[in-house]
Amino acid sequence: MKWLEFPPLGTIATMRRCLFLLLGLVGLACSGFESPRFLLLVTVDTLRADHLGAYGDARGLTPNLDALAEDSLVFRAAYTPASFTLPSVASIMTGRYPSALGLWGNESKIPDSTETLAKRLDEHGWNTAAVVSNWVLRESSGLSMGFDRFDDDMSDREATRGAPERLAPDTTDAAIAAADECAREGKSCFLWVHYQDPHGPYDPPDELRAAHLANERSREDGRRRLPVLSDHGGMGGIPRYQFLGGHADVGFYRAGYAGEVSFVDAEIGRLLATLDDQGLLSNAIVVFTADHGESLGEGDLWFAHGEHLSEAIVHVPLLIRSPGLEPGNRTGVVSLVDLYPTLLSLALGAEAREPTESQGPVRHHARDLMGSLPREEERGVFLATLGGSAIPRYAFVEGRYKLTLSEPNGSAEWDVRLLTRGDDELDLSEVHPELRTSMVQKVRQMQRATAGAERVWQELGTEDESKLRALGYATD
Ligand SMILES: [Zn+2]
Repeated sequence: MKWLEFPPLGTIATMRRCLFLLLGLVGLACSGFESPRFLLLVTVDTLRADHLGAYGDARGLTPNLDALAEDSLVFRAAYTPASFTLPSVASIMTGRYPSALGLWGNESKIPDSTETLAKRLDEHGWNTAAVVSNWVLRESSGLSMGFDRFDDDMSDREATRGAPERLAPDTTDAAIAAADECAREGKSCFLWVHYQDPHGPYDPPDELRAAHLANERSREDGRRRLPVLSDHGGMGGIPRYQFLGGHADVGFYRAGYAGEVSFVDAEIGRLLATLDDQGLLSNAIVVFTADHGESLGEGDLWFAHGEHLSEAIVHVPLLIRSPGLEPGNRTGVVSLVDLYPTLLSLALGAEAREPTESQGPVRHHARDLMGSLPREEERGVFLATLGGSAIPRYAFVEGRYKLTLSEPNGSAEWDVRLLTRGDDELDLSEVHPELRTSMVQKVRQMQRATAGAERVWQELGTEDESKLRALGYATD
């Protein structure tokens, strides 16, 4: 009989969605939780926390982000779990450490079966849209899963390297268009916008670089001239793809980076003002962060990020503004993996954040930052360079301390340093040998807990590989 036949797959998907909606309504009735109408997640590529006024920069590069910070919970010790783009962004979207998903490079792919923020919100009836302007985040990365609309249109080409990109003004325009569509039909909307501009080469409008040139060149090493490297690594010199117009002095590049930060801040300001004018932000969650920072000479790494786990690279800004959330500061150590349960909790209520069994134990390293957190000194976060560095590097940040491990070439002996968080210079290993030992054990535990997933790669054509190389990521 007809009604005994198994329903077609599309019908099952609809039934499943209806069930989720029904459960969501029951949950709403029981908990009194009311979903905000809008969740805006803004991520900026390659943005150091210490270049925001809200994190102590005195140059006034980021008036718009500083204004957002005034109304937000500001996380003072937020860390990315990885030193480069795709693994970091994937951890935000999945709540899982990148290696647990098999993500070791920018050419990796998030497995299809992975639960993501967009999938979860979509299941709960939200509209979902994304605008990304870094080519490694394009649809083939798997990040598009769960998004109704995924705009990875990058028709611009950077002059010095030919890599695809989209500049901040076009990113903002695309985001405004996406928001307009996403917020229709009376549904809640999740919009993710990723800006690319502070990523090298640092090529802001001339006046924005000029505003910082004299100051940067007057610094102690500002007039130092660096060799131009034959590769994109950045150890000891200027990465090939960063080299601009015959300039070799440190001040020129640092001024360019500061100019890019100003440039993107102004465009984020325009995005927020426009969405506000449209009434979209009156009952909205607004989250701002970066996928990683940038080394501007720290550890002799110049204008690059993947290679190290220095504070310049792994300490990222994190701001959360949400209805009913008291603005202020959080000083405890948090990781970008925490955003997945936190945003689900803010958007759908605390019940929604719970991991499902299929996610395995690693998910439990991600914490809902709106829930009751353990005491600061009990919380540690794990960091790795994965495939972004020539030698393996790991770190564990806990309380006031940071332990780094790296495996020097050709040596069985690992280089282990116990540092004060925020300072990569002074090795305290001899002062606190027991702490050093216990933190090494924690790194090893996290390596085991996050290992095991098969590495998953995108299928890249020759053209894709040359684009990745042009972006500064060697694939060979
Ligand atoms: Zn990045």
